[in-house]
Amino acid sequence: MHYSGSVYRPPSEAYSLIVQCTLGCSHNKCAFCIMYKDKKFSINPLEQVLADLAEARSMYRRIERIFLADGDALILPMDYLLEVLDFIRRYFPECERVSAYASTKAILRKTDAELKLLRERGLAMVYIGLETGNEALLAKYDKGVTVEQIVAHTLRAKAAGMITSVTAINGMGGKELSETHAIDTAAALSRIKPDYIAMLTLRVYTGTPLHEWIERGELTMLSPQELAAENRILLAHIDSEGSVFRSNHASNYLPLKGTLNRDREALIEQIDRALAGEVRFRRAVELGL
Ligand code: SF4
Repeated sequence: MHYSGSVYRPPSEAYSLIVQCTLGCSHNKCAFCIMYKDKKFSINPLEQVLADLAEARSMYRRIERIFLADGDALILPMDYLLEVLDFIRRYFPECERVSAYASTKAILRKTDAELKLLRERGLAMVYIGLETGNEALLAKYDKGVTVEQIVAHTLRAKAAGMITSVTAINGMGGKELSETHAIDTAAALSRIKPDYIAMLTLRVYTGTPLHEWIERGELTMLSPQELAAENRILLAHIDSEGSVFRSNHASNYLPLKGTLNRDREALIEQIDRALAGEVRFRRAVELGL
């Protein structure tokens, strides 16, 4: 198998076969992100990807999940994606789920019919970064798309039958905009009602614009207690029936898991118990996003 540089995958893809179709992220500008700073975005030759899949087939008897890396595999041209998906369907009949990170720009460039075709040929799940539901904040972080676009195009992926997992980042507004960030993010998620909501926690890395903002005193990081309080506001405002809500990423101080809206009160209660000192915050591990 060929792997170049650091390879990232969502926590729920821990047991998936990772196949690197692209290198890096086609955007690579978000002010908090260092994930793919070591790579210039490029597309791996299709022959190499198919050879990697063939090698994996010869090595493993059963592969139930395959994750197409790196940062934005959905940006690949249709014929490339279809060849990969067809290869997987042919040689990995036991594979239950193929998934990929998908930027909003990548979804935007695919028509409804193309999204449906990708779903039919096996792309079952996409991971999409919302980060914050606040337009001004998202623009400040240079996400490259608006909240409106993220909502609209995630809904298109959903309509095509894809399972959607949307990430938001706890603490993104700093102390200054914590409440606004929580309320606006709850509103955007309530409009999408994704299958999964994954809460990450903002981490700061040297060399990023976010690091400079903090140094200049423009943004103040939240303590674990303040992050929990922010999550509490988000949960109190969200209406996302059926979404699995998770904050089990290595960056999170308080792991939470439940299904909305059913478990909302129980999740809030867990936060309240942590804020009252009855549940210990864990030490978040600095593993990036
Ligand atoms: S957060 Fe996602 S879209 Fe933004 S630079 Fe990092 S990998 Fe690319």
